[in-house]
Amino acid sequence: RGTVRFDNVMFAYDPKRPILKGVSFEVPAGKTVAIVGPSGAGKSTLSRLLYRFYDIQGGSISIDGQDIRDVTQESLRAVIGMVPQDTVLFNDTIAYNVRYGRITATEEEVRNAADLAQIGSFIKSLPEGYDAMVGERGLKLSGGEKQRVAIARTILKAPPILILDEATSALDSATEHEIQASLDLVSRDRTTLVIAHRLSTIIGADEIIVLKDGVIAERGRHAALLAEN
Ligand code: ADP
Ligand code: ADP
Repeated sequence: RGTVRFDNVMFAYDPKRPILKGVSFEVPAGKTVAIVGPSGAGKSTLSRLLYRFYDIQGGSISIDGQDIRDVTQESLRAVIGMVPQDTVLFNDTIAYNVRYGRITATEEEVRNAADLAQIGSFIKSLPEGYDAMVGERGLKLSGGEKQRVAIARTILKAPPILILDEATSALDSATEHEIQASLDLVSRDRTTLVIAHRLSTIIGADEIIVLKDGVIAERGRHAALLAEN
């Protein structure tokens, strides 16, 4: 369960400038498909369409054969976990930010998810900027640390479908390796759509799709694409 299908998907923010001009692919249940392509190609847009931040303007997106427009946004988002590029934290402790993934989780479950995402040491802290009203000093988190909070939240939510918008390019390689390991852990046996910036980070993907100028320019497995490019 959890097969995601994009069928001739079309989308434009501005009607004069189409971003996706008919994109079709499938992520079979439990498999990982990676989307690569130049900056501005529409990769993040694809992931936002699956999460229904916007509605598509042509074609269809379905999960297990059901059009995502035929289910409520709430039930759609219950089966999808999204680790976005820029995680915005709630005005509350890091622990609460993790718990948001599944509000009914026990303390122990929150702690385990935090440990897996390597944020266990600061879950009691408040994020920077959210501290004025309680008169405490918040903790300044790096982009990578915020992403790990989002990963912990997703580990706790444990949805059948995952969207990972990789934001590892700005990180030092040690942190990148750690985040990659956590991401590999969450995506095992789940339907996963990875937005990737580098071929090197998606060696394990079952299929790689190269998006260019609003269409799929190429698709294949890692080794084959590396040989061609
Ligand atoms: P990628 O993830 O491949 O870098 P995006 O999906 O982020 O590409 O963006 C595709 C194009 O759509 C870019 O030209 C970008 O400037 C534009 N775009 C992205 N988000 C918006 C938005 N909210 N409003 C208008 N244009 C947008
Ligand atoms: P919605 O709130 O629209 O139902 P979700 O609750 O599924 O969407 O949230 C999707 C993701 O977006 C969350 O995992 C979280 O990272 C982020 N998010 C949503 N709303 C907020 C918010 N108000 N502040 C911070 N992050 C948010």
